[in-house]
Amino acid sequence: MTDSHSRDVEPIELTLDPTDWDEVKATGHKVLEEMFDWLRTVRERPAWQPMPPEALAAFHQPLPRQGEGLTGAVDDFRSQVLPYPVGNVHPRFWAWVQGTGTPGGVIADMITAAFNVNSWGGQHAAPYVEAQVLRWLKELMGFPETASGVLVSGGSIANLVALQVARDHNAGVWASDAGLHALPQQLVFYASQEVHNSVDRAARTLGLGQAGLRKIAVDERFQVDCNTLRQTISQDRRAGLRPIGIIGTIGTVNTGAIDDLPRLAQICREENLWFHVDGAFGALAALNPALAHHVEGMALADSLAFDLHKWCYLPFNVGCTLVRRRDLHERSFFPEAASYLTPMERGTAACDINYSHFGPELSREFRALKVWMAFKEYGVDKLGKLIEQNVDQAARLGEAIQAEPELELMAPVSLNIVCFRYRVPEGSAADPDWVNREILMRIQELGIAVPSGTLIKGSFVIRVANTNHRSRRDDFRLLVSAVIDQGRRLTGPPASH
Ligand SMILES: *Cc1c(COP(=O)(O)O)cnc(C)c1O
Repeated sequence: MTDSHSRDVEPIELTLDPTDWDEVKATGHKVLEEMFDWLRTVRERPAWQPMPPEALAAFHQPLPRQGEGLTGAVDDFRSQVLPYPVGNVHPRFWAWVQGTGTPGGVIADMITAAFNVNSWGGQHAAPYVEAQVLRWLKELMGFPETASGVLVSGGSIANLVALQVARDHNAGVWASDAGLHALPQQLVFYASQEVHNSVDRAARTLGLGQAGLRKIAVDERFQVDCNTLRQTISQDRRAGLRPIGIIGTIGTVNTGAIDDLPRLAQICREENLWFHVDGAFGALAALNPALAHHVEGMALADSLAFDLHKWCYLPFNVGCTLVRRRDLHERSFFPEAASYLTPMERGTAACDINYSHFGPELSREFRALKVWMAFKEYGVDKLGKLIEQNVDQAARLGEAIQAEPELELMAPVSLNIVCFRYRVPEGSAADPDWVNREILMRIQELGIAVPSGTLIKGSFVIRVANTNHRSRRDDFRLLVSAVIDQGRRLTGPPASH
C-alpha cells in the first residue's frame, strides 16, 4: 500500500462545530425550555423515585464508537437520566445539606460552558469577576479586604486548602516546602466530635493522618466542650505532640450546632494555634443581620470555609476559602514560578491575579460567574431573607414535632436542622431504630419527601436540613403527617382483615 494522498488534495478537516448552527440553536432552545418547564413543574413530581433494574441497565452499554448526534444524546439524557434525579430541586427534599439551585443559575452555568474560560489567571475578565466576588464575600463574612480567598469545588476542598495553610504555618518547619518527614512531632488539629468528615479527609490528605485530628466531646447542645479541649491540648503537649490548630463549626452537619467561636478564638490566641472555621452552610447566616448572632466570632478566624451551593442555593458546585493572611496562603500553594506560567508585561499573560497560587488547581471552572450573577440578580438581602425563612421553617417544624405526642425531637433545633423520630408506642415490641429507618425509606420510596437519617447519641433519627428555597409551610406539615402515618402502620395493631 502506498500513500495515495497527494499533497495538493486537501483532506477534509474535522471540527466539533456543527455545519448547521441553526440546528444546534433549535436543539438548545428546546432543551432550555424543557428544563425550565421541568423546574416549573417540579412540585407535581415525586420528591424521589427509585431506579428500576431496566433504568440501571441503560448504563451498561458498549462504548459508542459512532456518535448519534446532539439530538440523539439529548434523547438519551431525557429517557435515561432525567427521570432519576436525587431530588434536591424538589420542594420536599431536605436530605444531607444540598442546595436547590436557581433558574438564574441554569443560565449562568450555560453561559459558563459557552464562554468556557480557564479561570486561573491572566488578562481577561474571569479572574477579575472572581476577585470582585471574593471582595463581596470577605465583606459579608467580616474578613478584611487584605485577606486572600479562592473559589473551590465545595466545603471539603475549602477546608483542605485552609488546613494546609494552618499546617504549614504551625508545623515548625514550612511543611509544604520541607515535607512531613522533616517533622519530629505528630501534628494535631482539634475539633468537636461533630466535625464534618471532610476534615477527617483533609487530615488524611495533608499527611497528618486520622491520628492528627483529635475529636473532643460535645455538651448537650452539641457544641465542643471547651474545658475538655483545653485539657486535651495540654495533655498532648506534655505527651510530645504538636498542637497546630482548632476547627470550630458553624452549623454541624448532624444538628446544626454552632461552636462557641469567641471562646475558641481565645483558646487559639492563648495556645498559639490556628483558628479555622468550617461554616459550610452556617456561615451564610451572615447574609442576614437578623441572624448575625449565630456567626459571632467567625470574623476572628484565621481561615474560613463555606459553600455557596448549599445555603446560597447556587447550582453545584462552588465553595470558598478565605484566609486572613494572604502571604501565608500563597506561600502554601505557590511553588517557584514555572517558566510556562510566568506573567508578561502586556498581553494575555499580564495579570496580577493567579488563583493557582491559592489552591491545588490550575485549570479552574469559571465558577465565580454564577455567584456574581446571583448576587446581581437577587441581591444579597433577598438571599438573606430566604435563609431566615429556612430558619423559621425549621423552628416551626421543631414546634410541630413537640406538639405531636407520637413524635420526639431528638436535638435542639439550631439554624435549619431538625432531628426527630417517631415514638414507638408503649407495649410495642418494635425496635425504634428499625421503625424510624423504615419510615424514612418508605416516605422516600413513596415520593412524599426526602429527609435523611443520622445517629444522635447512638439513636437513629430522621433529619431535615433545610436549604430549600422552594419549601413552603405545607410541605413540612405533609412530612409530619406522613411520618406519623407510616409510624402507625409499622407499630400499630395488625389490620383486621
Ligand atoms: C457539606 C459540608 C462540608 C463539605 O462540603 P462539600 O461542599 O460537600 O464538599 C463540610 N462541612 C460541613 C459542616 C458541611 O455541612
